Formats: sequence, structure tokens, C-alpha cells
Amino acid sequence: MGFSAQQSRRRGLRLLPIVAVGLILLFRYFTTETFVNSETGEAHKVALSVEQEAALGLSSYQEVLSQSRVIESGPEVDMVKRVAHRLTQVVPDSARNFDWRVSVVDSPQVNAFCLPGGKIVVYTGILPVAQNEAGLATVLGHEIAHATARHGAQRVFQQQSLQIALSGARGALGDMSIEQQRAIMGLLGAGAQYGLALPFSRDHELEADRLGLHYMARAGYDPRESVAFWKRMMENAGDKPPEIMSTHPADSTRISQLEELLPEAEAEYQQQSHRASAYDTPTRTP
Ligand SMILES: [Zn+2]
Repeated sequence: MGFSAQQSRRRGLRLLPIVAVGLILLFRYFTTETFVNSETGEAHKVALSVEQEAALGLSSYQEVLSQSRVIESGPEVDMVKRVAHRLTQVVPDSARNFDWRVSVVDSPQVNAFCLPGGKIVVYTGILPVAQNEAGLATVLGHEIAHATARHGAQRVFQQQSLQIALSGARGALGDMSIEQQRAIMGLLGAGAQYGLALPFSRDHELEADRLGLHYMARAGYDPRESVAFWKRMMENAGDKPPEIMSTHPADSTRISQLEELLPEAEAEYQQQSHRASAYDTPTRTP
């Protein structure tokens, strides 16, 4: 009797840290900021404020650019800027006053990303796969959606919660080692260049596809091009998959979701181009 009582007391003590971690996680969950995505109506926990996201996004952006060959002008830069500009005009209000910036990097990498707070990087290697402006609008619409939907901040929350669950306590952003900083960059979406390819969750990928499709349609790009673009990406992912495929695995689920959403997006696109042509009515000379 005495023996088993001692045993169960020991078991109770062993459970104590687990209970404590559970309480910390619960407390953290209820005290963490909730972001309601105005486009989907869904609520998400985010570990960073909009300001913190913008600051981290900016410093990641500057670090990437400082280690890359940035192209300042030319037809490729003009095209990338034009597409990015049109897309950033149709994002929801919550992202309308992001400090949007776009840079083109001279690199064979098939890659593009948008950091939190609206810092876009496009590698020239993706342009032949994009083929045209609508193709580029597909990938940029998708990447921009990761930023407007604040997927980076959601990932940091999930990752920190996981860390707390695993180790017991730590999780604050201060006092970071280089490795931790790079891990954060991976979470924010700029980790590929350090070999830290952290894929977004499947839910975030599908949501970015869905939102990106609407952005491209509203910006006046034919959404049908999105299916063609991702099919090209899948074909491109042969023996040595392009960088963007390690974080954005395209598959038939994504293609079929896009095909399902096409009629709605196509209607949006037709409406948009109708409006655009109304504005463009040439003035007649007598
Ligand atoms: Zn993505």
C-alpha cells in the first residue's frame, strides 16, 4: 500500500511539468492577439503585431537583398513592378497601407516570395516559367496572399507554441542566436536561401491559392492562367525541383481547387475588364 502510494505520488510529480506547460499554452492562447481575415471571416492566432511583422519583414528583405544581385532597371524590372503594383491595389484594406516594395534579383533560382509587411522579391529564374504577366500575377498573387493573410505570424505562433510544449518555457523573440533568426526567416518565408526550406502548411497554401486567384482576377489578369502556371511548375519539378517547389509543393489537389474556383474568379475578371474598358473609351475626334 505504502509502496504504491509513493509510486503514484512520483507519477503525480512527473505530470506536474506537463500540467504547467498545458496551463502556459492555455494562457498564451487566450492572451495572444487574434487576427480575423476580412476576406475569409476566419480567426487566427498571431504571435506578432502588424508592426513587428513589418519590422521583421523589412530586415529579412534587406538581408536577402544585401546578399543578392539586385537589378535596378530594364524591361524585366518594369514588368515585375507593373504586375506587383496592379496586385497591391486590390488587396484588402488591412494590407492596403503596407509599405509595399518589390525587387528583382538576377539569379537562375526559380523563386519568388513576399515577406510580411509587403516586401516582394522575384528571382529572374522564375520569369521563363511565368511566361507572361498573368503567369507572374499567379505566383505574385499567391505570395502576396501569404503576407495579407499573415501566415508568417501564424506560423511563428504555432512554432513557439510547439517549442513551449517541447521544452517547457522559452519562446520570446528577444535574445536570438543567428540560427534562431534564420529559423524565424524561414517561418516568414525567406529561408530558402539558407537551405531552410520550411513549407507553409497545406491549409496556408490552399488559402494563398484561393486569395491569390481573386487578386489576379481583380487586378485584370485572366485567372485561367493560374492552372497553366502551376502545371508548368509541376513539369519543372523534375530531378532537381526549383527552390519555390520545396516550399510550395504543387499537386493535383491544388490544381483541382483552382479549377473549382475558376468560374467565380473568371466572373470577377470579366467584370473587372468590363470596367477597365469603360474607362479606356477613346475620345472621339470630330
Ligand atoms: Zn505559398
